[in-house]
Amino acid sequence: MKSCEQIRRQFIEFFEQRAHRVVPSSSLLPADDPTLLFANAGMNQFKDIFLGRETRDYVRAVDSQKCIRAGGKHNDLEDVGHDVYHHTFFEMLGNWSFGDYFKSEAIAWAWELLTEVWGLPKDRLYATVFEGDAAEGLEPDSEAEQLWQQVTDIDPSHIFRGGRKDNFWEMGETGPCGPCSEIHIDMTPDGTGAKLVNASHPLVIELWNLVFIQFNRDEAGTLTPLPARHVDTGMGLERVAKALQGKVSNYATDLFVPIIERIETLTDHRYGSSAGLEDRFDVTDPDNIADVACRVIADHARTLTFALADGIIPSNEGRGYVIRRILRRAARYGRQYLNIDGPFLVKLVPTIVELMGRAFGEIVERRQYIIETIAAEEESFGKTLDRGIELFRREATRLTEAGRKQLPGDVAFDLYATYGFPVDLTQIMAAEAKLTVDMEGYDHAMAQHRELSGSGEQFKAAAIAGLPATDDQAKYAMEPIAATVLGFVENGQYVTEGALSAGDEAAVVLDRTNFYGEQGGQVGDAGVLSFDGGRFAVRNAALAGQCVLHAGVLERGSLKVGQQVTATVDDSRRDTMRNHTATHLLNWALREVLGEHVNQAGSEVSPERLRFDFSHNQAVSAEQLAATERLVNERVLADQAVTAEVMPLSQAQEIPGVRAMFGEKYPDPVRVISIGSEGDRRAVSAEFCGGTHLDRTSQVGLFKIVSEESVAKGVRRITALTGREAFAHVQRSDEVLRSLSQSLRTAAQQLPERVGAMLKEIKELRKAPKAAAGAGDFAPQATIETPQGNVLIGQAGQAAPAAMRNLCDQLRQKGAAAAFVAAANAGKVTLIAMVSDELVSAGKLKAGDWVKAIAPLVGGAGGGKPTLAQAGGKEPEKLSEALDAAASYARDLLA
Ligand code: ATP
Ligand code: MG
Repeated sequence: MKSCEQIRRQFIEFFEQRAHRVVPSSSLLPADDPTLLFANAGMNQFKDIFLGRETRDYVRAVDSQKCIRAGGKHNDLEDVGHDVYHHTFFEMLGNWSFGDYFKSEAIAWAWELLTEVWGLPKDRLYATVFEGDAAEGLEPDSEAEQLWQQVTDIDPSHIFRGGRKDNFWEMGETGPCGPCSEIHIDMTPDGTGAKLVNASHPLVIELWNLVFIQFNRDEAGTLTPLPARHVDTGMGLERVAKALQGKVSNYATDLFVPIIERIETLTDHRYGSSAGLEDRFDVTDPDNIADVACRVIADHARTLTFALADGIIPSNEGRGYVIRRILRRAARYGRQYLNIDGPFLVKLVPTIVELMGRAFGEIVERRQYIIETIAAEEESFGKTLDRGIELFRREATRLTEAGRKQLPGDVAFDLYATYGFPVDLTQIMAAEAKLTVDMEGYDHAMAQHRELSGSGEQFKAAAIAGLPATDDQAKYAMEPIAATVLGFVENGQYVTEGALSAGDEAAVVLDRTNFYGEQGGQVGDAGVLSFDGGRFAVRNAALAGQCVLHAGVLERGSLKVGQQVTATVDDSRRDTMRNHTATHLLNWALREVLGEHVNQAGSEVSPERLRFDFSHNQAVSAEQLAATERLVNERVLADQAVTAEVMPLSQAQEIPGVRAMFGEKYPDPVRVISIGSEGDRRAVSAEFCGGTHLDRTSQVGLFKIVSEESVAKGVRRITALTGREAFAHVQRSDEVLRSLSQSLRTAAQQLPERVGAMLKEIKELRKAPKAAAGAGDFAPQATIETPQGNVLIGQAGQAAPAAMRNLCDQLRQKGAAAAFVAAANAGKVTLIAMVSDELVSAGKLKAGDWVKAIAPLVGGAGGGKPTLAQAGGKEPEKLSEALDAAASYARDLLA
């Protein structure tokens, strides 16, 4: 039997022998496409070539692409586990021609590989071709239809025509497209599957799709032939493996069996045991919910492993939330239908790494991170999982008993907000209980909750009724403008009459403003509203829906509704703009230095500094930080134009390399900030952004990174300064250096060396006395044996008191019951006595008395506790004599 690893390799070798360049899979995290949740087809990474925006030094390519279809245009999540051939994560084997070969070779090679190389039975294969579409003015693809008969020996009655849905492939609303030809396999026992082609039957499935990219669809929906014609094919590895391994289910192939078996070791359930089939892994009973659970868990564990390896981080929004939802779905299946306690998905990771690590080194490399992250996610959901299931059960029983069919929206919301159940999970649970979820009610509860915990916190802004929309177009220009006071927000109420008196705190609502209300990570502006006889100081501008609230205090005069004011934004906004433009440059530079996996996870831009959070799995090294800083400053020195352009969302999404925060809802039309796209030059950076920016990069002045740290698993934070703050920072560091080099009398450049030498010296100095007093070297002048251990008396060289105490400790640790040590240094004598608790309890020898008795012999005095005592003296020459006395003293007492 051919293993999946062999199949993958043979596919690649087959096309490599036909002059295809072997390329690696691209990351599951789309590098260039803010509209794409995850890589979902092999062609994603070649999209720009089809669009004629990019050329490569090869015209044929082959790979195995990691795909996730769990959201967006392609979403197979609901099918996974219930059928046996759709996964959320799968590998798509593909071969490409970029304006090189076309239909004939694509068809001939696909047939040769499937039937000659792999020996699939010809009478079980079907090909579909496009039947044409009169409305679109599209001819039937009789070219492909004829080629199937000319270049292959397929049974002509196995060639079917199909409509747009199955046989005209489109990337999206616009873009490259063309007819496609699919290859299906009939795995019915008696070979009667012809009528089941394209009928969603598990035994007759699509194996391979050959797409012939011929057209471009423009904004108006019109198709125009492309200058070059391309081939784009995709075949699911798991599906072709099942065909080649003669299995009914993808889960019965060698890529899945070990995972299912590992799941079995964690439960009492035996997969596929309900039907007495020859191969229990081939059982496809969609009603056996425990088997469904096994399949879902096996599938989802792979998805999690690969998504995490590619830097997709579980979170509460965007693709991160898709991943978290997938994890929670799997966790629920395991808990409820397989009775597994505690984290278990994490236990499947080693099996998956074992199975697939040779083909995808990243999962080996990030194994530990993947394990830690999944474990943490499972643990955190595990805390509320049981209680959530319990709450759902109670509600479901109550509803069913009352003859009702719909779970109220607030229950679904409670499950989400309190127990962490994503609403699609609640929907699955509802479906299992033959209920539906009141989604309208859920959305309503969610909206209410958002309002209460809303963004304009200070004022519970969104919850304030009656706020008008503010015309804030002037915010980008920043020049002072005249405006009229429409009302105030005081104590959470919007009032449209009356006046504020000096000292009143409130938020002023104007008809128009040049203040930027906090959003998109950029802080709100400060400034003043001045008027004849008065002045209102704006501390912060916040957004409440469409309304800009100018929060602050009336410093002088009386401010009435209807008053004309001059709104002036504080100059510190210029610093904010420096920081915002620099943030875009940093976003770009980090990807240049660290790689395409870097994605913005958050940012905060204020006049004082900028903070940028991004996905990256380890600390950024000092060299990488320096390189990033250098790249940004080079762009600053290049004095490039920063332009803002509002354009249709669909057009904006086509900008090469455009960045957006996934999960953010962008308006259509959307504002795009581009840096450096002068003439026909490609922009250095293009981002969807509503913030305020400089006109030219040189106005950043100077860019300086001040820290790099971790904020969450897989998320790093860089804090940086620009303009005057950066300058002040450099001056401060310079000052520190200057004062250091003065006190150490060393040139600044030599400080590291000088300090290094000093540290070494200090270390050696510290070591010296210790060595003199090391327990190993200690030769007692007298030893007295007692039932509690030996009593040792001797010299400790020239050791200092601390080192002598240390020596006594060491002697004690080595079993001595008491020690009396003496040392002489620079004309001074030190005596230290230490007695163990046991010996003290034996009631005879006490350290305090001991030194008190001996100290006079060296011309000194001292004392201390029964366990530890110290004395000083002035006659080093009497040391030996004193030690003899100490020995007799102890011997007398202990005899
Ligand atoms: P289907 O109609 O079966 O969902 P599709 O038309 O969505 O397939 P394509 O977009 O043409 O599939 O993808 C190319 C190939 O990738 C398919 O022929 C199939 O072998 C494989 N494939 C697609 N979706 C999945 C999936 N969810 N799991 C496993 N393999 C898949
Ligand atoms: Mg599909």
